[in-house]
Amino acid sequence: MKCEQDNEQITRWISHQMTEAERTLFEIHLTQCSACRQELKASQQVWDLIGKVPVPEPSDAMPVRFHAMLDTYKRSVEEKRRPWATLLERFRQLWALQPRSPWLIVLSWS
Ligand SMILES: [Zn+2]
Repeated sequence: MKCEQDNEQITRWISHQMTEAERTLFEIHLTQCSACRQELKASQQVWDLIGKVPVPEPSDAMPVRFHAMLDTYKRSVEEKRRPWATLLERFRQLWALQPRSPWLIVLSWS
C-alpha cells in the first residue's frame, strides 16, 4: 500500500522536529496507515544504527574540521550545479600556482 505522506514527515517525527500539533496529526495517521508504520520502523532502525556509532569527543579542531567538511560539501553541490564555474575556478587555481607560465597551463589542459 502506497501513501501520499512524505518521507520527510517520518524523519522529522523520529528526530523530534515536529510541533505538538504536527506530531499528533502524524500519530493519528500512523494508526491508520500501515505503509507509514512500515516506513517508520525501517527509518527507526537506520536512526538506531546511526545512534550506535561512537561519537568522538569534541576537540578544539572540531569547528574547523566541521567548516572544512561543510565547504567540501557545498563545493561538491555547486560543482554539480555549475560545471562551468567550477572549470573557471580550477583554471584560476592553476593560474595561481604557476603565475609565470600561463601557456604551460593552457597546453597541459588540452
Ligand atoms: Zn501513511
